[in-house]
Amino acid sequence: MRVAIIDACIPLTKQESQGMAALWLRYELLKYKIDICPIESADAIFITCVAPEQYKLVARIKREYKTKRVYVGGSASTTPTIFIEHCNGVCVGDGQKFISTMATCGIEAAEAISNILTKDKQAVTVDQSFPYDAPPIQCEDGAYRLWCGRGCKNKCMFCQTGWAYEYSENPNPTKLIHDAKSLLKAGKRINYLSNDTTQHSFHDLLPNVAHGSFSFKYMQRYGLPAARQVRLGVEGVSERLRKLMLKPISHSDLVKCTAWLNANGRSVRWFMIAGLPTETSHDWEELKQAIQEWKSITQKGVLAVSFTAWRPSPATPIGIFPISDEYHEHFLKFKEWFFTGKGWSNRVKIMFPQDPKNRILSALAEMNTTKESLYHGGDWGPNNIVEYPYKTQRNTLSNRLINAPQNPL
Ligand code: SF4
Repeated sequence: MRVAIIDACIPLTKQESQGMAALWLRYELLKYKIDICPIESADAIFITCVAPEQYKLVARIKREYKTKRVYVGGSASTTPTIFIEHCNGVCVGDGQKFISTMATCGIEAAEAISNILTKDKQAVTVDQSFPYDAPPIQCEDGAYRLWCGRGCKNKCMFCQTGWAYEYSENPNPTKLIHDAKSLLKAGKRINYLSNDTTQHSFHDLLPNVAHGSFSFKYMQRYGLPAARQVRLGVEGVSERLRKLMLKPISHSDLVKCTAWLNANGRSVRWFMIAGLPTETSHDWEELKQAIQEWKSITQKGVLAVSFTAWRPSPATPIGIFPISDEYHEHFLKFKEWFFTGKGWSNRVKIMFPQDPKNRILSALAEMNTTKESLYHGGDWGPNNIVEYPYKTQRNTLSNRLINAPQNPL
């Protein structure tokens, strides 16, 4: 079996430099002495995807190479139903078992394992393993990635990372820490593969690195991060919404922490989700207030505010909630306030969310259902097929949120 590896994030003509998932796949295939070759001479094409919308590339490749087997993996694999019409199989979750079965028993046997979705299967599991035994892998940016942990203990209501994967951490922290120290000593840059290193039992032993995604808990515990740019996943536009989504960052902490980071020479970006269930214009008023307060207590420093429009993700408690286009009205008013009203500052940069037309296209790919279903809400698409963990816990939270939207806990 000869295999071609395609990273869906990179143009087909530039595949010589690939991302993390594709680099790991290369390592794993070579471990089993499987030939890796260009797409034209391959028997099978493995495509790593990070977003459901990449099904279009998968469809194009399958159309162009009808006789070859095409398989999809990568982080988008936990939303597999959109891909399956366009390929032979989706490897949901991790791929070690798929590759070792393919190497030892053949591709048909590999397709039969429980985390491979094929057109004739009605149910699929998520392979929860993580390649902790893989060596640090050097990515295009020159930094080495070290495997720390997967999943997240926090389980914010909107986040598939917390709900589609069981939390796990590297079972051999001694080796991990040794690798990290050795690479640093050799003058190499390293990054940790983890959603939040503070959750790991060995966090205090890890050498500090200048990676740029930090939790509030990290900063409360360890102070100023080394990175020059700090990205904060704030998500809800108000404290009420953040509390409701189980990401309880207070209004005051948000403003003061940002000002403190700026005062220490860091630039800050807030990542916000527009249109979370129960959002109203009052929530947006609080965001305006947060920006005004930040401006009044900082003399210099830049704040970027980046919006994405919420869309339901499979496995998550709010994934069954209806979408609404109201967020766009709220955003347009916010934009008007910012660009032509009291909100303006050349120290604040605003990145717009998708408009409703484009948001619905992304949501259709993610949930693989109809427009009507998305506006109505419900439990369909991948939720019907994939055996996500935490299903009972998810259902309890979804029901509480439906029955008591202001106070579900
Ligand atoms: S949003 Fe961040 S903190 Fe919340 S569950 Fe996802 S990874 Fe964890």
